Amino acid sequence: MEMPSIGFGLWKVAAEDCRATIAEAVRAGYRHFDCAADYGNEAAVGEGIAAAIAEGLCRREDLWITSKLWNTFHAPEHVEAACRKSLDDLGLDYLDLYLIHFPIALAFVPIEERYPPEWIHDPAADNPVMQRASVPLHQTWAAMEALADKELVRNIGVSNYNSALIHDLMTYARIRPMTLQIEAHPYLTQDKLVRLAKDYGLQVTAFSPLGALSYVELDMAGAGDTVLNEPCVTSAAAAHDKTPAQVVLRWALQRGTSIIPKSTNPERMRENLAIDDFSLSEDEMAAISALNSNRRFNDPGVFCELAFDSFHPIYD
Ligand code: NAP
Repeated sequence: MEMPSIGFGLWKVAAEDCRATIAEAVRAGYRHFDCAADYGNEAAVGEGIAAAIAEGLCRREDLWITSKLWNTFHAPEHVEAACRKSLDDLGLDYLDLYLIHFPIALAFVPIEERYPPEWIHDPAADNPVMQRASVPLHQTWAAMEALADKELVRNIGVSNYNSALIHDLMTYARIRPMTLQIEAHPYLTQDKLVRLAKDYGLQVTAFSPLGALSYVELDMAGAGDTVLNEPCVTSAAAAHDKTPAQVVLRWALQRGTSIIPKSTNPERMRENLAIDDFSLSEDEMAAISALNSNRRFNDPGVFCELAFDSFHPIYD
């Protein structure tokens, strides 16, 4: 099965909403779901998937399910247990794609102690810290390959890697990464990284394809940071009788990236899928691409310091 180029993102979908959201998304036509241990909702997502299958809305083999290895499970001896926990929670016997969530290894926290472990090692301590672990990424990748050997996962890939890490990965990967998942939208086009990944044969998936919108509720962006009000976006929307969000998502597809927009609103879910009946012109594409200002909303080099008092840049 090929990965559908439009998937459904599950970050920040509350556990109690997952069942209805998944059913609605499957009814709308989504067959690709982007999950992660760190989203803290995989058990609820699993219930939603099971209910959608039981209701006859879809079959398992019609679905593309991605999950991600969390930072605290990078040590090779923890990778399979972390994957099996996601599989159990999701109620699946294989994943279509399993990604290393971040190129950041953090100290192990046992699943039975705290799950998902998130970023802070010892939240109950007087002085909680984000504790690094000394695990080279090539060891984590070898453990990911072992998951593919055991057919627990059909494809493996990486997320939040930069160009240097991709070059490095390609020197030792026995099983080639299928996908690179990165933040990408008109304010952060990452042209060189996208081009490099494609040169190596990786598919690129854009997360937060709508830009700032996802980060307003986290106080990591302001409402005024939205790309949806940019004149070149609104004028293209008017010209094609589409919404600004559809234009931005269409731009991402036309530049050759997959997208995984999240919405819990049934109308916006459908809106985000209905983008294959129009094309942006070369001029429209160029104008939207020219909005790039290298504005990154999801940056461990920023949020780890603000939220966890730990300086941990990975892109600089
Ligand atoms: P996003 O999908 O770009 O934006 C979601 C936000 O936009 C929500 O506030 C949503 O609100 C709103 N929205 C959705 N469709 C809209 C539309 N048509 N018009 C106006 N507003 C709209 O951001 P994201 O959730 O950050 O990214 C998508 C997925 O990427 C995530 O869910 C997750 O699966 C993945 N991701 C991966 C990483 C990683 O490190 N690998 C990091 C971040 C995200 P409503 O729900 O109210 O519609």
